[in-house]
Amino acid sequence: MDCEKCGNPAVMHAAYSGLHLCERHFCRSVEKRVRRRIREDALLSPDATPDDPETWVVGLSGGKDSVVLTHVLHGTFAKDPRVELIALTIHEGIEGYRDASLDACRDLAADLDLRHEVVTYEDEFGLRMDDVAESDPMGMAPCAYCGVFRRDLLSRYAEEFGADKLLTGHNLDDEAQTALMNILEGDVSQVAKHFDASLGGFDERAEVDEFVPRAKPLRDVPEKEVALYAHLRDLPAHITECPHASEAYRGEIQRLLLDLEENHPGTRHSIMAGYEELAGIAAERYRQGEGPEMRECERCGGTTTRRLCRKCQLIEAVEAA
Ligand code: SF4
Ligand code: ZN
Repeated sequence: MDCEKCGNPAVMHAAYSGLHLCERHFCRSVEKRVRRRIREDALLSPDATPDDPETWVVGLSGGKDSVVLTHVLHGTFAKDPRVELIALTIHEGIEGYRDASLDACRDLAADLDLRHEVVTYEDEFGLRMDDVAESDPMGMAPCAYCGVFRRDLLSRYAEEFGADKLLTGHNLDDEAQTALMNILEGDVSQVAKHFDASLGGFDERAEVDEFVPRAKPLRDVPEKEVALYAHLRDLPAHITECPHASEAYRGEIQRLLLDLEENHPGTRHSIMAGYEELAGIAAERYRQGEGPEMRECERCGGTTTRRLCRKCQLIEAVEAA
């Protein structure tokens, strides 16, 4: 098949849009979607100037999503002195996995001449994911601990670096999976949070302060397209899977969504469109004070509905194990 824009050989066909695109037009279309999201979700304040730039922290894990995000952000803002980018990598303490991807992060940051910061679970929480996966004091999947710890460090360090925005590389598939999981679990507080991260704190899985506004500029781009873009642009993405990756429920939802997408192209996009509308309604309800009452975590001072926030509950459980 030929590219619909120029007639060169197509490298991809997007069933949801019906488009065939060549390498050049495909890469352009990814960049266009990401930049549109940046404009809509991470709008640069008109007060930002070259003397007083905004600081944007981008979560860089070394996987294809965050590498593509960092690459496109750099392409967009490298020559714009109103934005200062900082790449932040979280080291979970996973032998043979994170060390290799950390090298990919360092290479990319050096290539792009970006400030790069690394924060470890070991320094921050006194634990390593390898040990947590082994002791598993709460009887959960490793990712259930790891996700809480990572979100905590990303938002805490974004604040520490004085960030105006925190950007992460969640793609369309990630977002549609999360949306469907929250709906199937009947978790309205999570739905509300999708729309307004400042409402963070009352949810089981992510009980953290999220005062730095968050944006997910890849959220319109399907996972397969992110991977193809990384490949075509020859980006240094680390592709090995984490040895603890075992989110069984998410895996089921992922398969379900891929099947639905194949039979009904556009399903992921329509899930997200509907989810955003629901999230707007749910967030409004919480803003009007119908959410649970908040207090300070006794251990870290974070916002929570209980004595301890979720992160501190997990750390205490690991320490006691
Ligand atoms: Fe952590 Fe799970 Fe990701 Fe591994 S796959 S780094 S355990 S969240
Ligand atoms: Zn706490």
